[in-house]
Amino acid sequence: MTVHGRGNRPPVVTEPTLGPPVSPDATLDGILERCRSLAGDPSLEAVSRWKGEHPGALAIGLFPVYAPAELVEAVGGLPVPLRGGGGRIELERADARMQSFVCSITRSTLELGLSGRLAALDGVIFPSICDAARNLSGIFRRNFPSLLVEYLHLPSNAASRVAVDYGRGEFSRLLGKLEARAGRRATEEDLARAIVAGNEHRDLVRRLYALRREDPGRISSLESWVLLRAGDVLPRGEHAATLRRALDLLPRRATRPRDRIRVLLHGAFCEQPPLELLATLEEAGCEVVGDDLLLGTRWLRAPVRAGGDPLGALAEAYLRDSTPSAVRHGTTESKGEAILEAVSRCRADGVVFATAKFCEPGLFDLVLEKRVLDRAGVPSLAFEFEERMGAFESIRTQVETFVESLLLFGGERPVPERAGRRP
Ligand code: SF4
Repeated sequence: MTVHGRGNRPPVVTEPTLGPPVSPDATLDGILERCRSLAGDPSLEAVSRWKGEHPGALAIGLFPVYAPAELVEAVGGLPVPLRGGGGRIELERADARMQSFVCSITRSTLELGLSGRLAALDGVIFPSICDAARNLSGIFRRNFPSLLVEYLHLPSNAASRVAVDYGRGEFSRLLGKLEARAGRRATEEDLARAIVAGNEHRDLVRRLYALRREDPGRISSLESWVLLRAGDVLPRGEHAATLRRALDLLPRRATRPRDRIRVLLHGAFCEQPPLELLATLEEAGCEVVGDDLLLGTRWLRAPVRAGGDPLGALAEAYLRDSTPSAVRHGTTESKGEAILEAVSRCRADGVVFATAKFCEPGLFDLVLEKRVLDRAGVPSLAFEFEERMGAFESIRTQVETFVESLLLFGGERPVPERAGRRP
């Protein structure tokens, strides 16, 4: 295991990784079309192509919600966030190895592996988000002995004095495994370069979300999701270049004012809802101005320190600056305050909770967060989804009724209170 330096070292100076230039002629439609084709491929063909162009380099799957992709990049590898089958694959083998009362993403991720669709991967990292993820890591280890399968124990007590040291030690352990598999060591410069690229990428994602908040007519939540999903199979620099070009073009896009209510979509931080569900929300009159979809793309809220001790900086960022979520444990932040703050930041008229069926962390927090919203007078609607659900009419009716009731409220709803509202 490689132990990296720490303490008061001089900062490693690196330039941001700008990635290959996107054609200056690339149109927004062209970018979205390409992203759509990349995002819709459960067989990871783009990853196979990347492997062909980078012989010997690792492609490492990252189960949601967050694992430090920088560690994979520091050994010259490609991090590949996994999102399950997204309703596009039949479950033919996974059900024989797993009970039916678990969330869809765990079952479909296993099916992806058993059907050979993850063949481009050299390993998979499972972060400690819930029992289902932990059990899936064990099933993967048993069923795919040639894969590097690692369960990452993220620190769960942010208030502890040793939390940063613990997190740093766990990241160091994981990096050692990746180095051994890659056959190369990651230098501090490698890590610092990956951290700078990660900071830059998250900044672009945040700009996309800010644009949606401020000018939602420019890009739908569906298009934003597709733009971000393409990053699952592209090197970070290339995806950053794509986002940068899209962000240049979006303000010039013609828009028409739309009579919709502003909603915060919450609860789909891990398993992703079917695209039809996102479309249904929009068709039923919602402008989704904030969400926790693909949360790992912006899990860290502030730039990670790039100098000194890179592993310590990543551990500190996880503990101090990560987004409140049902799978982030042991913090002193109130989740009730966090959702009220998100409502206020997005100037949302209401909250739509879309929670994956059988997702224990999401369903636990739903009760708590809904109670806080009720007390603050923020309207909300809740339903569950599955990857392979096929009928959306019931949800459409619920959302349309929700939208109509909010339109009746007009501007008379009280502004959410924040102070003193701890659940
Ligand atoms: S959807 Fe929920 S239960 Fe399933 S793996 Fe994700 S966090 Fe765990």
